[in-house]
Amino acid sequence: MYVDIHTHVDNQSVIRILDNDFDKISVTWGVHPWEVNDYDNNVPRDLRSLGMTAVIGEVGLDKVHKETFEKQIEVFEEMIRLSESYRKPMIIHCVRAYSEIIEMRKKTKATMPWVIHGFNSSVETMRQLLKYDIYISLGEILYRNENQAVEILKNIPLERLFLETDVSGRDIKDVYAKAAALMGCDIDVLCRQIFENYGRLEATH
Ligand SMILES: [Zn+2]
Repeated sequence: MYVDIHTHVDNQSVIRILDNDFDKISVTWGVHPWEVNDYDNNVPRDLRSLGMTAVIGEVGLDKVHKETFEKQIEVFEEMIRLSESYRKPMIIHCVRAYSEIIEMRKKTKATMPWVIHGFNSSVETMRQLLKYDIYISLGEILYRNENQAVEILKNIPLERLFLETDVSGRDIKDVYAKAAALMGCDIDVLCRQIFENYGRLEATH
């Protein structure tokens, strides 16, 4: 069984679980950091969508969009509040704001699982995130920065790992094969472990 923890189907952010004879899409709901300015207008409609989803995403912080950063923090805090009160894990988009994500985790004492999707930073940053029970999802880094990806894969406890395709258009099976090749392990090991990790996210609600 392959879990694609973050991808996009028909303009929606989804989690996709698939195998040879099985393909299940689970839509996530959340306010993306690029869209925080539209949030206030959409609250009632959005809360209805939230009730129907199992996971909140993608939400988070993006420092490339500096002009809205304060508002992003405000909305992210609201997402954390919803995540905790509805017991829904979060898929997080983070660009150059890892320390702020950790700060928010500490400050809010959040206990729901958080998954940093498209992780693209150092082993040191990863260690900080792991300390706060945060999961790491890898995608394009496996292709664009092999050396760093190998370092990360060498150091990550497998029970904290996810894989994803996001907007790459790749096949998730190829992403698993790539990660397994970089780790020198069998694809089945990743399939089993990541499916178990996903089970842990699902068990929260
Ligand atoms: Zn995405």
